[in-house]
This record gives sequence, C-alpha cells and structure tokens, in this order.
Amino acid sequence: MQLISPVTEIKNIGGEREKLLASLNIHTVGNLVEYFPRDYDDRTDVLTVAELKAGDTATFTARIAANTEVMRAKRLVIAKTLLTDGTGNIEAVWYNQPYMKNTLKQGQLYLFTGKISEKFNRLQVESPEFEPLKPNGEPVSGGRIVPIYTTTKKLSQKILRQLIRSVLDEVTPQLSEFIPERIRRKYKLCERSFAINNIHFPQDDESFFMARRRLVFEELFLLQTKLLQLKGNIREKPASLAVKNLDYRPLLNQFSFNLTTAQKRTVDEICNDFKSGLCMNRLIQGDVGCGKTAVAMIAAYICIKNGAQAALMAPTDVLAMQHYKGFSEVFEALGIKCSLLTSALKKKEKQAVYLALENGETDIVIGTHALIQDAVSFKNLGLVITDEQHRFGVKQREILTEKGVGVHALVMTATPIPRTLALILYGDLDISVIDELPPGRQEIATYAMHTSYYPKIYGFIRREAEAGRQVYIICPMIEENEKMQLKAVTEYAAELKDGALSGLRVELLHGKMTNDEKQSIMSEFAEGNIDVLVSTTVIEVGINVPNATVMVIENADRFGLSALHQLRGRVGRGSAKSYCILVSDTKGKTALERLKIMCATNDGFVISEKDLTLRGPGDFFGTRQHGLPEMKIANLYKDIDILKEVQQASIELYRRDPELIMSENEPLRRKITEIFESGSEKICL
Ligand code: ADP
Ligand code: MG
Repeated sequence: MQLISPVTEIKNIGGEREKLLASLNIHTVGNLVEYFPRDYDDRTDVLTVAELKAGDTATFTARIAANTEVMRAKRLVIAKTLLTDGTGNIEAVWYNQPYMKNTLKQGQLYLFTGKISEKFNRLQVESPEFEPLKPNGEPVSGGRIVPIYTTTKKLSQKILRQLIRSVLDEVTPQLSEFIPERIRRKYKLCERSFAINNIHFPQDDESFFMARRRLVFEELFLLQTKLLQLKGNIREKPASLAVKNLDYRPLLNQFSFNLTTAQKRTVDEICNDFKSGLCMNRLIQGDVGCGKTAVAMIAAYICIKNGAQAALMAPTDVLAMQHYKGFSEVFEALGIKCSLLTSALKKKEKQAVYLALENGETDIVIGTHALIQDAVSFKNLGLVITDEQHRFGVKQREILTEKGVGVHALVMTATPIPRTLALILYGDLDISVIDELPPGRQEIATYAMHTSYYPKIYGFIRREAEAGRQVYIICPMIEENEKMQLKAVTEYAAELKDGALSGLRVELLHGKMTNDEKQSIMSEFAEGNIDVLVSTTVIEVGINVPNATVMVIENADRFGLSALHQLRGRVGRGSAKSYCILVSDTKGKTALERLKIMCATNDGFVISEKDLTLRGPGDFFGTRQHGLPEMKIANLYKDIDILKEVQQASIELYRRDPELIMSENEPLRRKITEIFESGSEKICL
C-alpha cells in the first residue's frame, strides 16, 4: 500500500465506506493519515467500577460477568450484560446491535468508555466503546489518549479510528521527511513520521505537543515558502529614486488640518525608507477614517518633488475617481499634474493618458486595474501606492511596480487584519499602524432594528436630512440574479422617493451605471445636492463624504462583520454625531451575534478579532477570501509564536536557496509542487 493508493486498497473499504470517506475529502491512503483529529478524549484515567458516578463519561476496566442477553422491546433490540471488576457491578446496554451477544466474551477483561447513568438505582453504561485487554491488562491498541475526528454520522469514530490505526502501521515507513535537516534541528522539530503517529495516537502529553508543533510548523512553512517564491525577492532592492528633498511643508499648507501623531510617525517611517536607498515596501494599516490618504499624498509629493512619477491603484472606479478628485484639488494648486485612468475611459482618453505618462507630463496617475495593462508605461515611475490592498493580489502589485526600476511600494489597508494574518499576507512588508483617529471624531451610535421600525427609521432620516445632513441606505445583493437585484433596488428607491421620504432628494447608485453616471451621482452627493443615497455595495470602500451622518444597512445580516465595519466607516467622518442603523429580521445565532458586536464597539481591531472567532476554525478571518488555502491544523490566531519562527526559517531558507535547487531542499521542493500545483490547494494571491 502506497500513500498515493486509493482508499479502496485498504481492507474492508469499498462502496459505501469509500463514499463516506470521499465526503470527508479522503481519497487516498495519504489523505487518511493526514486527516487530523479535531479533539482528544483522555482515557488515561482508568477508574474502578466503585468509582463510577452517574453523569460522567468514564473509562474503566471490567470483566463480562454474565451471558449477554438480547431482548426485543417495541422496535428496539436491546443487548444487555453485566460488568464487574470486584469493586462493584454495572450494567451495559446496546441498542439495535444484537451481534453484541457474539462479540462479547464472558469472562474476558475489557477497557470500556462511555456515559454512566443510573437506572432504578443501578449503574448503567449505554453503548460504551470497548476493547479487549491483554492478560497483563494493557489495551491491545496501545495509546489511551483517543483521537476524535470530524466525521459523518454513518462513519463512527471507532471505525475511522481503527482505520487510521491499521493504515498508519503499514505506511509509517513511507512518511518521509521533507523539512530540511538544518531547519528541523534549529527549530527543534520532531520527525514527520513521529508527528503523524502521535497526532493521531499520542503516547503522552509531551509527544502530542511535539507532534502538533511540528505539523503546525510544517503547514505554515510550506505556505510561507511558497508565498516567498511567489512574492520574489522584492526586499532589499536598491531604489532608483534618489530622494534629496524631504520637505513637504508646501503640501501641509494645503491641508485644512494638522497631522495626528500617528500620521506623523507613519510619514517619518516613510521618509526613512526613502532615505535608506532601498526600495520601500510598507503597509499602512489603519481603521477607516484615520487619514491614510493624507499620508499617501505626502509620499507621492516627495516622490514627485524628487523628479519621479507616482501611481495610485484603487479597487473600484468610484474610489479611483474620488481619490483623483481629492488629489487634484490639493496637487494642481502646487503645479503637480494628476491623471485618471480607469477602464471606463474612452479609447482616445486612455491614449492621451498613456502618452502623458510616457513623456512624463503626468506626475501622478490614479486608477484601477487599468493601470496594470500592457499599454501603460511610465517615463520614470518612482512610487506605487495601492489602496485597499486586500482587494488586489501580490501579483498585481508587482506588475505595477515592474513598470519602473527600483520602485517604492506603499500599500494601504483599512481592513484591520489580525497580526497573524498580516504576517502571512504581508510577510515581506514593513508595517505602520495608524492607531489614532483625527480629533473631534465621535463614536458612531449603532442600533440593530427590526423591519417593524421602518416608520421610525424613515422619520429619523427625514429629521437628519432636514437638518442638512446626508444619509446612505445600503442594499445588499438579495436577489438571485443581478437584473432582479437592480429592479428591486430601483423600485425601493422610487418607493422611498414618492412615499416615506417624499420631498427629500433621493438618488440611486449601483454597479451597472456607467462611469460618468456614477461619478456625477457621487459628486452631487459630495456637494450636498443629494439628501439620501440608496446604493448597492459599490459604495463599500473608501468613500469620503464628511457631511453624511446616517448609514442605514438593509438586510444587515447578509454581511460579515468586516464588511459591516467598512460600510459603517462611511459615516462619522466629520465632527457631527453619526448613526448606523442595521435593519434585520434575522433569527440566526451568528448573525445576531454579529449585529450585537457592531452595536457594542467601533474598534476595527476588536471587530476583526471577533470576526475571527465567529468564523471558527477552518475559515479564520476568511483566509479563503484572501486566496489562502484552508488550514488543516494551524490556528492563525493562536499559533502566532510558531508562525514567527516559520517566518524566520523560510526567509533563511529563501536567502540560501531561493529556487530550492540544493539537494538538501529537493524533498521540500517536491512537496510544495505536490500540494500547491496539484490543484487541491490553490493560492491565488
Ligand atoms: P482613510 O484612512 O479611511 O482612507 P481618509 O484618508 O479618507 O481616511 O480620511 C478621512 C477624513 O479625515 C478625510 O476627510 C480627511 O480629510 C480627514 N483627515 C485626515 N487626516 C486628518 C487630520 N489629521 N485631522 C483632521 N482630519 C483629517
Ligand atoms: Mg481610504
């Protein structure tokens, strides 16, 4: 039997069981031994019968004291026998398992585990698991810490466990090592075969911890090594832009505010990067509204004043247009030429932008994915800024930086990412955190409301609008298809306009509008000519209208926590008190929990941590949403220490042998190819 053999080569597997295993994603023998337990049952504490108490789940040794009787009661077949160990007696029962009569041998000693109850003053154990003991009292299958697997109803723990047990013995010699010896020694990792055996059947606590550590390390190490290869050697490249002039005071004079301490610190870090002579690779993390754009402007300003061009890439047309507007207002006054490039431009307009970039007429270009098209080239690109980085892949960022030589890279994200995930996703970046909001900001008061409150909600909207404030109403995708969705939103907007919100200026914004239409609606809203903007989620990222103070989110249960937080961040951007109303009739437990958290806190980092725990194992902070494979054993939240070691180890390895061509790294290279290129684990960064 080989690790790559199909499970059907295992004795007793075929038909039904093959299907059951397939439903757990177990197709090969290798899949089976790498199907790790989700928990363990500690059966090292073996009790005497006299020590058993009703209500406990316990393990005890006892002899079968009587013949097993089989009775019928209504539709049940009951097998019943008496167990004893000299300190007391207990009855054991099994339902619908008449074969117990022949399985259990009178006089034989067994190890039992099961839930103890009391029936008519007598102790009883129902459907206990059991295994015969050797004459010396040792359980036949060894290990007394018993694995518990995620399984389906028809495939019992016991069967799955026995299956793994029997296969493990046979394939253990094939569980070859692929983490290079030098790394294994340095980070004190046990061997792979020991780890796999002990993750299923730990000899003791210590072996279990060693096994788990090794397997968590392995899982993260494979991923990290692969990511480093994907990212390429972007660090420690000399920058071609020689920054001599770091004076950005003329730009500050254009701002109507003073920088916060956190903004200043981040700008200083950027200046140090510029001075270092090496390419900057910096991530700016900061909650919505903390003022990342101002920092980006300063970086772009310095780059441009030192004779190079800058590019800013945003994930949506709406956001790119808004940035273009913001940058133009400030930069044009300083004689800096800005251009906008999105795929929605007409061919002629695009060509004009291409030309201006090539001949250096444009100092900074702001755009979407349109920036990474082949047709785009720069005269002298010095800095690339990506906004809302999590919307882009590492590859896309790279394509843009490769349009110049030795280009600085600045990445901004408003999605608070738990530190662990940041390390994986942005392991190659230095991180600046803007952990301070501009002064005068107030908490956004957030309420979850039932749809029966609509009259009150609309009344509130009307009062705010009449006081000169503006309102967003967000409608998530609720219809099956886009067309129906569009119809629903359009009708809703019309209904409000003629009904509950009559007299107010209500407009609609959705993804199917042309760019011009979107832009005109957005600028009308920004200028205060629209009171209520009914919108699909195109509004989600980055939009900045400080006079908007109310955000109503329809069907709020449809959104994840991070999305809700992003949406809510569209209000509370000025100094006026802002409100967020989450409308939902949900009864779902997690959905209600999410709404409760939103009402309780405004802190993006707290929200992201909660998001992590609510999503539960397997989808920590939506790793899949980030294009990362699902973790089998590592817990990105708890295994931060191991992750740090992994990071160090993979960088060391990368420095020595980036392509993994040395013979000592050959097995690792094969393993990486096997898991990431087989199609089972795709990374699409
Ligand atoms: P984000 O970090 O979400 O991208 P923005 O850069 O859009 O935030 O900034 C949000 C708002 O705060 C903008 O209106 C901006 O002009 C304003 N702002 C930025 N920095 C400051 C500051 N230091 N003091 C006051 N207002 C600021
Ligand atoms: Mg922003």
